[in-house]
Amino acid sequence: MASNMNDLIKLSREYGSDPGWVVAGGGNTSWKDGDVLYVKASGYPLATIGEDGFARMDRRKLAAIWETAYPEGDDAADVAERERLVLQDMMNARIPGEERRPSVETLLHDLLPWPLVVHLHPTLVNGLTCGVDGPQKAKELFGNDAVWIPVTDPGYILAKVIKESLEDRTSRGLSIPDYIFLANHGVFAGGDDAEEVRQNYERLQKKLTGQIVRKPGDMPKETLFLREKSLVDEIAGEFFGGEISWKFITGGELDRFTTSTEGASALLGCLTPDHIVYAGPGAVYVDSVDADRLKHTLEEYVEVWGKPPNVILINDGKGLQGALVMARGEKSLENAVLLLENALEVCVYTESFGGPLLLEERFIRFIVNWEVENYRSALASG
Ligand SMILES: [Zn+2]
Repeated sequence: MASNMNDLIKLSREYGSDPGWVVAGGGNTSWKDGDVLYVKASGYPLATIGEDGFARMDRRKLAAIWETAYPEGDDAADVAERERLVLQDMMNARIPGEERRPSVETLLHDLLPWPLVVHLHPTLVNGLTCGVDGPQKAKELFGNDAVWIPVTDPGYILAKVIKESLEDRTSRGLSIPDYIFLANHGVFAGGDDAEEVRQNYERLQKKLTGQIVRKPGDMPKETLFLREKSLVDEIAGEFFGGEISWKFITGGELDRFTTSTEGASALLGCLTPDHIVYAGPGAVYVDSVDADRLKHTLEEYVEVWGKPPNVILINDGKGLQGALVMARGEKSLENAVLLLENALEVCVYTESFGGPLLLEERFIRFIVNWEVENYRSALASG
């Protein structure tokens, strides 16, 4: 059956409103109607999206991007210049009058052959994509029905890597895969109509569920942080420009990460770009909290990352054990807690796929510095 705008909106809302499929406004969807690509615009969460949340793109102009030569080097200046030029060409590929900012994955949506494309960051699937044995398990479970894409810079480079991977399949006589797994990120799937998309995602969920050796247990709960409360307001407040919102959470799956620095290691790094964008480029672990220690910890972090940490894991050995989650404003705090919880869940799922494999620092820096992601997080925090 031919798909239409209604299918796109329905699918987007269905998956977007279930945190098992996508959290904090991540993920994106699209629909191809002849020469026009309708793709999710930045800043419109899938859960509530309507027709006005999709940017209209001229597919002929998007295709022309592949004929354009961009700087190829991978030092910081080349990368920045390339991304700037591609972004400019992508903005120019909008249908005249279109003012929304298309998803950073627009090029990729356009080159995938499915009329409907749904890209998600499912918690369960990320157990696979963030797992040490992910590539091997994906091959075992899905064979030629799936493609595994190693960690790749988002935007133009990711689209290019996937384009080449699909062309390589074609040259070997293989058809389009059902799933494109992006290491430490999520999955792309699609179909001719909404029903086909649902079936593909259902099959994926079923197959992975069959592999799970342990499901996530309780999530941490907010608890009073009586000691040093004013310290957080005053000292950390300075680092967050005075608009600090924070809470202290403890218990459940978090406890495993607040026993020691070694125990905390999976949270000191990052699993996926969502975690970097919303919960910061890694947590800090401290074994005491007083004014000097807190200030020093924050200063050190700012020196390394250019911004204060969102998550401080604490265990003072005297009963204070949990995570201090901080952000600028309530909405950002909500997202930081959500992504910390999501990291806990993904970590549990990775137990079924060889344990967690974290992103490399170079990639984390790329995301932290990436203007487009900053824009997305700014919009999501209102
Ligand atoms: Zn994504």
